[in-house]
Amino acid sequence: MDLTRRGFLIGLTAGVGASAARRILGRSSLARPTLHLIPRAAWGAAPPGPGLVPHTIDRATIHHTGVVLADNRRAPTRLLEWDALHRHERGWADLAYHFVVDRNGHLYEGRDPAYRGDTATSYDPAGRLLVACEGSFSEQSPTRRQLDALVGILTWAAASYGFTPTAIDGHRDLAATDCPGDTLYAAIADGTLPRRVATVDAPHLRRLSLHDGHMLLAAIADGTI
Ligand SMILES: [Zn+2]
Repeated sequence: MDLTRRGFLIGLTAGVGASAARRILGRSSLARPTLHLIPRAAWGAAPPGPGLVPHTIDRATIHHTGVVLADNRRAPTRLLEWDALHRHERGWADLAYHFVVDRNGHLYEGRDPAYRGDTATSYDPAGRLLVACEGSFSEQSPTRRQLDALVGILTWAAASYGFTPTAIDGHRDLAATDCPGDTLYAAIADGTLPRRVATVDAPHLRRLSLHDGHMLLAAIADGTI
C-alpha cells in the first residue's frame, strides 16, 4: 500500500507534539463532554465503492478487530490495512464498521452510518451501528480510555438514533464468533457498559477539520498522545 498517498503521514514531518494535539482535543465551546472524530479524509479512507445499502439504525453492535495491537502508534496504519482488506479481500464497498476506537480512545470515522455495515459472519447488520475496538480482546484487555470512548460513542448513538442501552449487543450474541473477545464482551454481559451508557450524558460529537485530524494522527503515530 502506498502510504505516502494517504494524508496522515504528511503531518508526521511537521514534528507535531502532544501539546498541539491536546490543544486540538481541548477545543470545545460546549459544556457537555465532547468526542472528537477523526474524519475519513484525514486517516485516508478511500471513497466508498458502489453497492452501499441504506438502512435505519435502531441498535448497536460491538466488535473487535481481532488482532492484538501492542503499540497504539500503529493504530492509524492498522486502520488503513482494515480498509484495504475489507474492500479488496472481502469485496465490500467500504470499511465494514461505522466507528473505530483505538487503544488510547481515539475515535475514527468509518462507513457512513446511513448505510448498512458488513460482516463475514451470519447475522444481518441492517439497523445496527457497528462500532469496532482496535485489538484482540481474547488476548488483551480494553484500556480505560478505550472503554471510555466506546461508552461515549454508544451514548451519543443511543441519544441520536433513539435506542436504549438494552439494544447494544456484542457480535457473539448474534453469530458464531469470539468477537468482541472475552474481556470486552464481559463488560457488555455483566451490564457494566450498558449501565454506563444509561447514566452518562450524551457527548457532543465533533468532527475534526482535515488539518486538525492530520495533526492528531501525527501525534498518535508519534506516540505522543
Ligand atoms: Zn465482530
